[in-house]
Amino acid sequence: MPKKKIKEIFIGSNNKGKLKEIADLLPKNLKIYSNLDFKLKSPRETGISFQENSLLKAKYFCKKTNKICLSDDSGIEIDILNKAPGIYSANWSGKKRNFNLAIKKVYREIFKKDKNWKKKKIVARFICVLTIFWPNGKFISKIGKIEGRISPSKKGKNGFGYDPIFIPRGKRLTFGQMEPKKKYSIDHRSRAFKKIRKFF
Ligand code: IMP
Repeated sequence: MPKKKIKEIFIGSNNKGKLKEIADLLPKNLKIYSNLDFKLKSPRETGISFQENSLLKAKYFCKKTNKICLSDDSGIEIDILNKAPGIYSANWSGKKRNFNLAIKKVYREIFKKDKNWKKKKIVARFICVLTIFWPNGKFISKIGKIEGRISPSKKGKNGFGYDPIFIPRGKRLTFGQMEPKKKYSIDHRSRAFKKIRKFF
């Protein structure tokens, strides 16, 4: 793996919520490029795992920009839905990435499985795989997970995506109700990031 500390990086994501949360994890003296400047389309996510999609994105953006790239592939797994939406978490929000729709779909699908679900613990987890891809073809991918459950109603306005319906294990608040700093101290993305922090 390249030994030199990374001084500048391209964050390969067109998801503004994710972009902000990744940027918040990175050291403040790092020069960050993103699609806010480059306006590159994201590649088709044809992989069958978080690992494959994370690598595919980091490699694609590295080839396009010739910069060291950092990509994230993440999502939520809900056990009663056989781990759906999983790698299709973004797709459940439709073309316009409307997460009210995605959350409605989650509730609808859980209801189909168990009409009494609001009285039960619906086990779920967020997963994130972060990949750094260097222009010389080297790469590293690391995974982070956080276990929790689905809230019976949407709560909180912080964060993005499925944050208003995810309650981490041992907590009472959803990620949507937590201060960003609190979320970052325990979430899947920061757990994956801790494993690649030494490169920065
Ligand atoms: P992708 O990695 O671009 O395929 O998208 C992952 C999807 O999972 C996003 O659209 C989010 O809605 C969801 N997701 C991933 N991480 C989080 C998170 O920290 N909070 C809420 N939703 C998330």
